[in-house]
Amino acid sequence: MSTDLTKDRVLEMLQKVKGPDQDDDIVSLGLVSPIVINKGKVYFAISVEPGRAKELEPMREAAEEIVGRIDGVKSVAVTLTADREAGDTSAPESGAGGGSGGCSTGGGGGAPGSGGTGGQIPMPNIGSIIAVASGKGGVGKSTTAINLALSFQANGLRTGILDADIYGPSIPRLLGLQGQNPEAAENDHIKPMKAFGMEVMSIGFLVDEEAPMIWRGPMVMSALTQMLQYVTWGELDVLVVDMPPGTGDAQLTMSQAVPLAGAVIVSTPQDLALIDARKGLNMFKQVKVPVLGIVENMSYFNCPSCGERSDIFGHGGAKAEAERIKVPFLGEIPLHMDIREKSDAGQPVVVSDPDGPHAEIYRHIATQTWNNAEAHKAKREGKKTKITLES
Ligand code: ADP
Repeated sequence: MSTDLTKDRVLEMLQKVKGPDQDDDIVSLGLVSPIVINKGKVYFAISVEPGRAKELEPMREAAEEIVGRIDGVKSVAVTLTADREAGDTSAPESGAGGGSGGCSTGGGGGAPGSGGTGGQIPMPNIGSIIAVASGKGGVGKSTTAINLALSFQANGLRTGILDADIYGPSIPRLLGLQGQNPEAAENDHIKPMKAFGMEVMSIGFLVDEEAPMIWRGPMVMSALTQMLQYVTWGELDVLVVDMPPGTGDAQLTMSQAVPLAGAVIVSTPQDLALIDARKGLNMFKQVKVPVLGIVENMSYFNCPSCGERSDIFGHGGAKAEAERIKVPFLGEIPLHMDIREKSDAGQPVVVSDPDGPHAEIYRHIATQTWNNAEAHKAKREGKKTKITLES
């Protein structure tokens, strides 16, 4: 019998854990997701029926404990997931264990947050959590998220950014933090990194850049909830979350795991991207997260030599769509070499060229976003808007 830390060894140990009805073990019952092992950290999920997550917490703890006994294991993260049947498109219930992506992680929290729905991870230090999402990858979501966060910071808000784009975490690179590791804090927590005065956390700090991103649904959920639960965020006015692209389980989990103040959808002008963006909108509607607005990225192109503007992608699609579906339109960001070069060099345009035209566009978008979020918050709480930024 091997004693090394391998997936087979983890499964072997898990055969000692009885399933929900104490009849058979969780491996034989087919409840264990693929196992992910990374530098001694073990992640997996156990499928349970929706609504039984709380009752089955001892089963989750037993699985965590038994895997922790294997030599070489540094930490174990086990998630209970309540998978929805394929093809079921009904809106998930809010809270742990409710519908697709509903999950419950153990250790260090998970109690209902103040003002949030049951099962959400409490984030008491954080005023507003704003998700930046897109229906598909490659539309400039991360670039927008980073410049939006830096604009919040420039507008005087204490800001953090969480890179939840688990499939392609680019925030460390965009902020020039690649290769750096966050410090450990007490009780198995980790301290966020700092860049340009902002607090920063990314799955990219925790996994090798070369490591294949083979995260499957439950792994993604486990990693996301871990990043939310175990990071010692300071007092923040706003936490910007760079969401994974698309509208699958990971996005739903994220939307349900924390009390989101709202979401910003990034789209390019092409029709196809807009169809994808619409899916993103609908997902947030389903989980009752307000859509704070749509940003049209790579909206138009200003020729650097002659200055002439060309609408190479048929600019204006996002604005028209926003009007049609009555969602605020937050602004247009041109396709510009400076935006790409500065982001890719870890010097986002909002900080490297704060007086330039692009920084001004981002700051304007940030102002609109914040004011919309505050308006939604005030409506929810039945109060007057707390902080309004001048446009
Ligand atoms: P996503 O997060 O949607 O996958 P990224 O933010 O990583 O997209 O952007 C994809 C690429 O496009 C990056 O190389 C980025 O620098 C570039 N990019 C994003 N927005 C712009 C823009 N407005 N002008 C020029 N390049 C951009």
